[in-house]
Amino acid sequence: MKDIENLKSEFESEISNASSQEALQNIKSKYLGKNGLITKLLKGIKDIPPQERKDYGRKVNELKAFIETHLREKQEYLKEKEIENKLKKEWIDLTVPVKPVFGSLHPITQTLERILGIFRGMGFSIEEGPEIELEDYNFDKLNIPQDHPARDMQDTFYVNKEGYLLRTHTSPVQIRTMLSKSPPIQMVAPGKVYRRDDDPTHSPMFHQVEGLVVNEYANFRHMKFVIEEFLREFFQTQLPVRFRTSYFPFTEPSAEVDIGCVICGAKGCRVCKDTGWLEVMGCGMVHPNVLESCGVDTEVYQGFAFGMGVERLAMLLYGIDNIKLFYENDIRFLRQF
Ligand SMILES: [Zn+2]
Repeated sequence: MKDIENLKSEFESEISNASSQEALQNIKSKYLGKNGLITKLLKGIKDIPPQERKDYGRKVNELKAFIETHLREKQEYLKEKEIENKLKKEWIDLTVPVKPVFGSLHPITQTLERILGIFRGMGFSIEEGPEIELEDYNFDKLNIPQDHPARDMQDTFYVNKEGYLLRTHTSPVQIRTMLSKSPPIQMVAPGKVYRRDDDPTHSPMFHQVEGLVVNEYANFRHMKFVIEEFLREFFQTQLPVRFRTSYFPFTEPSAEVDIGCVICGAKGCRVCKDTGWLEVMGCGMVHPNVLESCGVDTEVYQGFAFGMGVERLAMLLYGIDNIKLFYENDIRFLRQF
């Protein structure tokens, strides 16, 4: 009986000193383990004289229950303590002001916004289309014949699905708009386009803005005014502009638009190849075949369209001579915008 009392006080002092789960585990095996002290006492019950055995057994079992309860309570206490310490250690002061983050819009985004802002001001709507496009919309409905070199695998990225490709221009958005809306239409379509091109002035992915006007009276002079007005606004100066006859399958007549070189002031330099002129966009009166492929009545309506490269305009606006600079994310370059 005295052993039991001693054991109890020994246990009490040990458990109150235990400060870790590991220490608790040691105490547990010391008392309750296979060769633990309580286990031994229980095994020894049979050697106690019969008249004392019942009383003795009860005391041992009481002590066993006492030890189990205290171990469990201490374990829970230590677990809570552990969480508390962790919270204290990992505490973050959410009220501390953050370091200011510096950043700005990418020059291509800025140029795109500048272009769209001007057309918005002229009453154009902004339309968008998918980058994975139907071959039908990208070529056929734009009057581009089956044997046209632009359709070649050398120039166009085809995808693993019959009849689909990465759009080579934003012109299919014209098709989508004419198929879903009736004239009058006055829209611009910004977006990424893809071609198998890669040199200092060409990238396999670049941005275009496409314009389309379809109504009962759209004509070449109307188009000329819109383009000249746009260029004057974009470069914020009255530049010489010329329209040079050209050929596109989807417009007739077609023209390319040149501006007086903004780099050399039209005197002649490396960028304008000493001509004093820079090509900035293509345009023309929408080919009747294109209008008809979208169900537009060519007896009533006519249209003009134009398309420009955003990178090209950004390079001229900011005086950048390599298109790759836009995609390298060099902070020394981006910081300048
Ligand atoms: Zn020049």
